[in-house]
Amino acid sequence: MCDKLSPVRNGQLTQTHTLYSRIVLSCISELFFRMQQHLSANMKQPEFVILGGGIVGLSCAVRLLEKYPEASLHIIGEHFSPHTTSDVAAGLWGPYALGNTSETACRKWAKDTHTYMHQLWRSGQAEQCGLCLVPVVELFRAEEETTPWWHDIVFGFQSHRLQPERTEFLGHKLGQNMYRMGISYITFTCEPTRLMNHYRKILSAHKVQFRTARLESLRCLTKLKINSNAIIINCLGLGAHHVVGDAELGPIRGQVQKVNAEGVFHSFANDECYIIPNTDTVTLGGTKQKSTRTSPCPVDRYMIRTNCTAIVPSLGEARLLKDAVGLRPVRSSGVRVEMEKVYLFDGKHGKQASLLVHNYGHGGAGITLAWGCAGEVVHLVEREMGSSIESKL
Ligand SMILES: Cc1cc2nc3c(=O)[nH]c(=O)nc-3n(C[C@H](O)[C@H](O)[C@H](O)COP(=O)(O)OP(=O)(O)OC[C@H]3O[C@@H](n4cnc5c(N)ncnc54)[C@H](O)[C@@H]3O)c2cc1C
Repeated sequence: MCDKLSPVRNGQLTQTHTLYSRIVLSCISELFFRMQQHLSANMKQPEFVILGGGIVGLSCAVRLLEKYPEASLHIIGEHFSPHTTSDVAAGLWGPYALGNTSETACRKWAKDTHTYMHQLWRSGQAEQCGLCLVPVVELFRAEEETTPWWHDIVFGFQSHRLQPERTEFLGHKLGQNMYRMGISYITFTCEPTRLMNHYRKILSAHKVQFRTARLESLRCLTKLKINSNAIIINCLGLGAHHVVGDAELGPIRGQVQKVNAEGVFHSFANDECYIIPNTDTVTLGGTKQKSTRTSPCPVDRYMIRTNCTAIVPSLGEARLLKDAVGLRPVRSSGVRVEMEKVYLFDGKHGKQASLLVHNYGHGGAGITLAWGCAGEVVHLVEREMGSSIESKL
């Protein structure tokens, strides 16, 4: 039939065919364009629910908003600052009580946080963030020389074999020959209550919602009217023990005293105690006990003051502002920063998968690692979003 068509009719057919192809093509490209728009809107406006409002949760919130400024973000916590474990810490930068966290991961997170503290300090935000750059002296009885892996992250690290004349400046009760080795360096103390207050201002300006609620399990989220597509970030600290059933996580009790001592500008530590200056107060510590007791113990109080006074005698007269107790969230296999899929919400075809990113178990170093670990969380989220877009396309 087609061969018999006159040239005119044949031309008409070609035109119709071209028109038809154009319409189909434009429909496809419109569809493709809309799909891309939808996906990039989802990218720009993801929804995050952060469980836990301590230093780890708030650091995640700030870093997620830096990456996704249009995101909607909720933070759920049983307590917020100044009533979290993070508020108890003096906030001296230093990896401590971290279970079996790999040195590579720890180094990355700790260094990232140190660099961030340095940036805040250099940009004139030290006071509002509770940052002080302080010299630290640590003394040991052991003979062998110790150079910790983090020596090149802090400033001016030195290891010293101590001769009696080098410890003469210390309180007389220590005796001149007690210490064989010492290290000194310069790093940051970061008062968590101030830093969390700073974060809270940033988050409130982004209309982040803070919700006070206690979770008994992740299933409780279904009752809190959370969008089932939201990405959940678990920063529950010790609370992760029962909320996600992590038997590796346990408390290591720390008791400290916050005192008024204006003349202390160095941080000192030995095997028994530590002295850490903050912006307005000095923190004297501390204990490291397997215990869940959250009330101050008078014996600990006495020992802390006696040991610290042996190093800096004027601390004997320092006015006690408060005793504070916190339970460090120590995880035997180390800090947990990883993503998993959980099935909490009902979807059209049965249970729907939600993304859950864990970030807990920071032991005695939550302030030291929080910013770096939050960066890792952002990286995991970014990778997942990237891969889900690729698979949808
Ligand atoms: C005495 C002491 C001194 C320390 N000194 C230092 C230091 O100098 N440097 C340093 O880096 N680190 C230090 N640490 C460690 C540091 O304090 C912790 O690693 C850090 O606070 C952990 O932060 P987080 O946000 O994970 O936990 P948290 O601060 O405990 O926050 C957990 C959040 O989760 C919420 N939550 C928990 N369970 C539930 C639940 N079931 N339902 C709802 N919400 C829940 C809590 O209410 C809270 O909002 C010290 C700790 C102690 C105790």
